[in-house]
Amino acid sequence: VIVFDLKCAGGHVFEAWFGSSGDYEGQRAGGLLSCPICGDGAVEKAVMAPNVAAKGNSRSAVTPAEAKAMLAALARAQAKVLEGSQWVGTAFADKARAMHLGDEPTAPIHGQTSLAEAKALADEGVPIAPLPLPVTPAETQN
Ligand SMILES: [Zn+2]
Repeated sequence: VIVFDLKCAGGHVFEAWFGSSGDYEGQRAGGLLSCPICGDGAVEKAVMAPNVAAKGNSRSAVTPAEAKAMLAALARAQAKVLEGSQWVGTAFADKARAMHLGDEPTAPIHGQTSLAEAKALADEGVPIAPLPLPVTPAETQN
């Protein structure tokens, strides 16, 4: 007897027992298999996700304190990069494009933009880079 984990088109995973691998193929081909939960006939073998989480301490885990220190170091590094860079908020895409086209003098700026807009800028050859950490808008300081 072989036990298969099967999955229907609706995403239900269930166990099914067969006399042999051929039984499974035959029943499947004959449309005899169906999901016991929703009755869906579009059933196939479920792909088992590999067990990623290692048991025990075989993998070195980052402690919350270490994670916090790493984040702080990253924040310091980013603050250094942004020194002298102007926050332009949502005008980022327009400004970056204008500078790239020579309509505005080139200056270091950072701001926010949508993923689609960032992709469009990159496609146009505008040199932009994502920041590792979200930046708190400095507009309130003006
Ligand atoms: Zn189902």
